[in-house]
This record gives sequence, C-alpha cells and structure tokens, in this order.
Amino acid sequence: MMVDVTVIGGGPGGYVAAIRCAQLGMSVALVEQYERLGGTCTNVGCIPSKALLDSSERFHEAAKSYGNHGILLDNLRVDWAAMRARKDKVVQLTALGIDKLMEKNKITRLQGVGRFTAPGRVAVDGPAGTTELESRHVIVATGSKPLDLPFCRIDKERIISSTEALNLPEIPKRLLIIGAGVIGLELGSVFARLGTRVEVVEALERCIPGMDSELGKELERSLKKLGFVFHLGARVSNVERQGDEVLVEATSAKGKELALKADYCLVAIGRKPNTQGLNLAAAGLAVDARGFLPVNERLECAVPGIFAIGDVIGGAMLAHKAEEEGVFVAELLAGQKPALNHHLIPGVVYTWPEVAAVGFSENDLQAQGRAFKKGVFPFMALGRARAAGEKEGFVKILADPLTDEILGVQMIGPRAADLIAEAVTALEYKASAEDVARICHAHPTYAEAIKEAALAATGDRALHL
Ligand code: FAD
Ligand code: NAD
Repeated sequence: MMVDVTVIGGGPGGYVAAIRCAQLGMSVALVEQYERLGGTCTNVGCIPSKALLDSSERFHEAAKSYGNHGILLDNLRVDWAAMRARKDKVVQLTALGIDKLMEKNKITRLQGVGRFTAPGRVAVDGPAGTTELESRHVIVATGSKPLDLPFCRIDKERIISSTEALNLPEIPKRLLIIGAGVIGLELGSVFARLGTRVEVVEALERCIPGMDSELGKELERSLKKLGFVFHLGARVSNVERQGDEVLVEATSAKGKELALKADYCLVAIGRKPNTQGLNLAAAGLAVDARGFLPVNERLECAVPGIFAIGDVIGGAMLAHKAEEEGVFVAELLAGQKPALNHHLIPGVVYTWPEVAAVGFSENDLQAQGRAFKKGVFPFMALGRARAAGEKEGFVKILADPLTDEILGVQMIGPRAADLIAEAVTALEYKASAEDVARICHAHPTYAEAIKEAALAATGDRALHL
C-alpha cells in the first residue's frame, strides 16, 4: 500500500499526528499493535487514572468534608467493582471517540506491530497477516513502558506497575510505592482516599523532585494529612514477594535499615522508551545510550524522512507534549513553518490539591544564578477558596527583576491543573507580571490567586494579603 505518511503508534502523539496530516491533505496509514487506539494515555495512563482520581476524590470529600457543608451522610461505602467498571467505560468511550476521528479524517488503520524493512518501508504484522506500506514519510510514535528496578521483576500480581494498579482486584489494605513522582503520588492518592495505608519510598529527599521544591514540600504536607507515610532519601535494596505480601528493604536517609511490608508494591520509578519490534536497523536508525530515538530540532531522525515524537524521543513524557509534537511534524511535512516551545509545556500532578507549573522553577533560576523576583499568594486568603473549604496551597510567580517578564509560574491548590492555562498563555505572549496584575479576573474565583500573585510580584501590591 502506498501512502504519503505512515504513523507507527496510535497514542496521543501518533493519532494526533495522523489527524493533522489528514487535515492538511495527506493520505495516512496509522499502525497500532492493539485493537484499541489511544495508547498509554487513553488505555493505561491519563484517562483511567483521572477517572479513578475523580471517583476516589468524591468519596473522600463525602466522607471527610461534606459534614462541614452541613451535608450528613450515613453508611457511606465504596463499590470498588462499580468504580472500576465506570473507569473502564470512560476508557472505552474515549477510545471509541478516537475511532470516529480516524473515520472522519479518512485515516487508514492497520492493526499490528510495525517494523521497518527499509527507510520508507514498514511491514505490519497483524492478525490478518503482513501488510507492506510504502511512504515518503514515517512518523514513529511508539511511546514508553514502565521502568523496572534492576533487582526486581514486576510480577504483575503483587509487584506491580501503574497498569496493574489501575486494575487491582481489591482495594489493598497496605500499598507500598517506590517513587514519589507523578504516578506514585496520583495512584497513591486514589488508594489513600479509599482507605489504603500508603507508604512511599523515594530515593531523593523530596516528592515530585522534577518540580519546584516548595511545591514538593507543600504536597508532602497535604498527602501526609491524607495518611501517606513517606520515606524520603531512602535507597531500596530488595523487593521480594512473600506469598500474598511484598517485602521491601531499604536504607533510610539516616542510614537506618527499613523492612517494609505491604499487600502490593507499586514500582513507579519512571518510564523507558519503547522501540521494541521496530527493527530500526533496517531503516538505518539506532537508539541512544538510554534507549531514546534521537531527533534534531525538526524532530527528524538521523535518516531524512523519518520523524519521531512523544515519549519515544524523551523530554517530558506527557500526552500534550506528544500531541503538540505530532501537530508540529504534520505541519512541517505540509511545508508550513510551525513553532513549538518545549520550555512552555506545562506539568500537572492530579493529586488534591493539584500541582501545576510552567516555565522556570525557583530551583532552576537559582541553579542558573539568575536574579528574579517572586510574588506568592496563598489560596487561604481567597474568598472563593474559603467558600469551597479549599484553603491549601499557593500561586507563585517568578519574574525578571529588570523587565518584569514572567519567567515561571508554580502553583499548588484547587483546580491548579486548569488554572495553569492562564500562566502558559502569559508566558507564550511574554507577559510581564504587571500585565497579568492589570487583567480583570472574575470574583470570586480561584484564578484571582494568579492576579494577586502577579500583584505581589510587582512590588508587594497584593490586595488581599
Ligand atoms: P503512547 O501513548 O505510549 O502510545 C504509543 C503507542 O504505540 C501504543 O499504543 C503502543 O501499543 C504502540 N506501539 C508501540 N510500538 C509499536 C509498533 N512497533 N507497532 C505498532 N504499534 C506500536 N500524561 C499527561 O500528559 N497527563 C496525565 O495525566 C498523564 N497521566 C498518566 C498516568 C499514567 C498511569 C501513565 C502511565 C502515564 C500518564 N501520562 C500522562 C503520560 C502519557 O500517557 C504519555 O506521555 C503519552 O501517552 C505518550 O504518548 P505517545 O503517543 O508518545 O505514546
Ligand atoms: P517520575 O519520573 O515522575 O517519578 C519517578 C520517581 O521515582 C522520582 O521521584 C525518582 O526520584 C524516583 N526513583 C527512581 N528510582 C528510584 C529508586 N530506585 N528508589 C526509589 N525511588 C526512585 O516517573 P513516574 O511517576 O513513574 O511517571 C512516569 C512518567 O509518566 C513521567 O514522566 C510522567 O511525566 C508521566 N506521567 C504524567 C502524569 C501527569 O502528567 N499528571 C501522570 C502520571 C505519569
């Protein structure tokens, strides 16, 4: 079969690239090994985790804070099977939506493992046999897989990755999590809200170490209130299944030997690129030392005509980053001059309070030795947050002391995942803190915290502090 573009991988990078190529008039074949499109994000990532985060948050709210609103409930309980079934339905509907988008855009779908046979040639080994594809351009979007600890095999029963954690047969009594990153803290939140004793072992000295350290500290404080037990700065030396339990041995930051037991151990220490089965050598390509597919600033691989996007090329392993890269490559292929600023890809952690950031963190600026000014506004001082009983967290705006240009926005608090969009817009347009401070924000809203932080950054002018 001859097409203009072959896309390998049907996750948010691949299927969005396919849509944009089709919109721009190219004929596209989308190759996905599984029957369902959507990749990690739809099937075992963003969507199912957010469905369970939403359900568990509703239960937790009903149990812990409805009483404060004068809503009294008796005999509240969780039907875990129903909660999981709802999550599965959400995933199914999302995947069906992607199918419809493929039909609408007349994208040819091929189920099977795509492997290169030459630079512009891909063979697809699927349930219906092998199909040969020939195209001028190939976009590789094969995503990532969970990382294992070197000394411990994920048995998918008691020693699990996020994929199994999203589908546990029961709500565990005790869950041990290795890694206080995004997956560990999001999935840990799901179970802690449902009554599980959650214990987290993290190699570094703080939670979500990739983000601003003040966000990590504040999140740690909130999650401790939820019942999380943290062992930060602890080195795991052994993970061992013992019947229906898992033993995790670690050395604490103070050199104490820890022997921790739980019903399940979730290994959430990062993800690795997935190039398995691609037969890259046939296309004249090779991965780098960490297994990523190297690309240049056009997201083109070492062989002209082959592009790669999303988790498989590294950088932030985020669905929206993969999508933006998909659009970028499609527009390049159409002869346009797209721009993509990786520095302004927002990061979000869907715990409660939510955490979100864009641009530089305070730690980044300190490491660069760059001068900055800082405006912070706590949600506690906001009418809307008090009305909702959501008083934890703050918004922090970092700006250049000379030009007032916003360099970074960090926030932890209610609806931070949505609020960060205003900050991204501000940074994209190179707004100054003064610009944001002068924009009228509706009252009472959580977004007023952004305006107040901007006022604080422009000379201690916050109105409600
Ligand atoms: P993937 O989504 O991994 O898709 C790759 C696809 O390629 C897969 O469907 C795979 O089957 C297919 N494939 C691989 N090799 C071949 C081959 N040879 N032939 C055919 N098909 C192949 N990101 C966010 O932005 N927000 C979130 O809230 C979020 N939550 C997450 C929660 C969890 C638990 C996890 C695990 C991840 C989460 N992520 C989140 C990360 C997000 O899922 C990934 O960054 C995103 O899916 C990457 O998209 P991708 O298209 O690069 O790859
Ligand atoms: P992560 O990189 O966010 O966190 C991994 C954590 O494990 C880090 O804190 C790291 O210091 C720690 N760690 C590593 N080795 C360790 C060891 N031996 N012992 C103890 N701790 C160890 O990775 P993740 O949480 O597995 O998530 C994987 C990817 O999925 C991330 O890149 C993330 O961007 C993406 N994701 C995003 C979202 C979101 O956007 N909300 C949600 C889930 C996952």
